[in-house]
Amino acid sequence: MKRDQWTVTLNLALRLGLKHLQDMDVRPVAAFTSLETLRQRLGRALSDEGLPPDQVIDELVRDADGGILGSTGGRFFGWVIGGTLPAALAADWLVSTWDQNAAIHACGPAEAVIEEIAGEWLKDLFGLPATASFAFVSGTQMAHVTCLGAARHRLLMRAGWDVEEKGLFGAPAIRVITSSERHGSVERALRILGLGKRSVRTLPCSQAGQLDPSVLNQAFKGDAQPTIVILQAGDLNIGACDPFAELIPIAHEHGAWVHVDGAFGLWAAASPRYRHLLRGVELADSWTNDGHKWLNTPFDCGYAFVADQQAHRGAFSHRTSYTMYVDGARDQIDWNPEWSRRGRAVPTYAALRQLGRNGVADLVDRSCEYARALVRRIGALPGAAVVWEPTINQGLVRFLDQRAGATDADHDRRTDDVIARICATGEAFFGGTTWRGQRCMRVSVCNWQTDTADVDRVVAAAGRVLGEFSATENGPDAG
Ligand SMILES: *Cc1c(COP(=O)(O)O)cnc(C)c1O
Repeated sequence: MKRDQWTVTLNLALRLGLKHLQDMDVRPVAAFTSLETLRQRLGRALSDEGLPPDQVIDELVRDADGGILGSTGGRFFGWVIGGTLPAALAADWLVSTWDQNAAIHACGPAEAVIEEIAGEWLKDLFGLPATASFAFVSGTQMAHVTCLGAARHRLLMRAGWDVEEKGLFGAPAIRVITSSERHGSVERALRILGLGKRSVRTLPCSQAGQLDPSVLNQAFKGDAQPTIVILQAGDLNIGACDPFAELIPIAHEHGAWVHVDGAFGLWAAASPRYRHLLRGVELADSWTNDGHKWLNTPFDCGYAFVADQQAHRGAFSHRTSYTMYVDGARDQIDWNPEWSRRGRAVPTYAALRQLGRNGVADLVDRSCEYARALVRRIGALPGAAVVWEPTINQGLVRFLDQRAGATDADHDRRTDDVIARICATGEAFFGGTTWRGQRCMRVSVCNWQTDTADVDRVVAAAGRVLGEFSATENGPDAG
């Protein structure tokens, strides 16, 4: 009986899962079922009696229909999402099947070793110090918490304050210096760690979205306070990377801890073609990155790396009397903020084995090339303008209201309208952003499946959408 339940239920999930993946080319990329319908379908009363497991799965898939974004396919360019590689997805299924608690080595020896190896491989690919410690967390948000927790430990220890023992009440203040292009997850991490938003000093960026060394130097003038400098390897609008080789020595001269948000941009270090953009990044004290973005592992999968192992361990390690420890083994709980957790490193291990070093570089190079092609070609359509041509895999396009006397507000409205209409065609998914005061369409490419046929198809769809306006608006001198 139990055996039959496994067979029927898992075969059904395999069949329905494959159908989802294989129908990607013929289904709309955007969701098309309304909130109301989803609630109505899924929100049935919880019954007193249970159901056969295969019926549960069958109804789950039917009820969710139209509410699943096509983000595993090659025409999804919203946010910075990434799809999933076959080996990574299959490995993720096995993680759920094995159902180990990856809190400590004794709870799942193989997964603990896989995590050790995957962490070493990642440091090697990114060119980070071989001695750095690491943690596999839910994403860059928690990687920030992990890295900045280590920073808090070290900086306060240096100031004679044991924060793990005494907490933050009465502790010396920590100042955080960062740039205007930081991601919102940085602030949330500071809130969680008790450092607060007010500890943040935001410095302006150059036209290229980079922090200027002289501006950073100036920020240190005056007081000598424990300081964390947070730099960016790939911001979410234009993929800008700070000039690490110049900035990090300045911060270190003033005793600061340097943390790098490399959620997706750190992957550029894995490509010989783009590595130069990250020159000097290895000099930092901590780094974050996501597997679930550019590496194409399933959610959720983020990485924290810390150069100062003692600080990392000092902030997170935990020993109890009821757990078993194995000599010489790496217990994940010593590096991670979670207790019980899934074997998150397994899909990363599988993804890196599927791609190899060259496959990772190729994924990075192709994504950048397609991002550039999409921005150039959509930007060249009538009624469109290139706002940022990608340096890596992120770019911006704006759509212009062609009527005489149209204002910036009209162009903003037009941009949001065109984004919505492109999504409504079902041919592609894009999101919007406000960048330097203007609404723009973000083009983010980080899916291993995107190819030239996808690019052609999406440019054609954008062309058709823009054509809907041109009939009424294009006078003889509009262009
Ligand atoms: C996505 C992203 C984050 C947040 O990462 P999560 O994995 O969603 O927690 C932080 N910074 C940057 C630059 C990002 O792109």
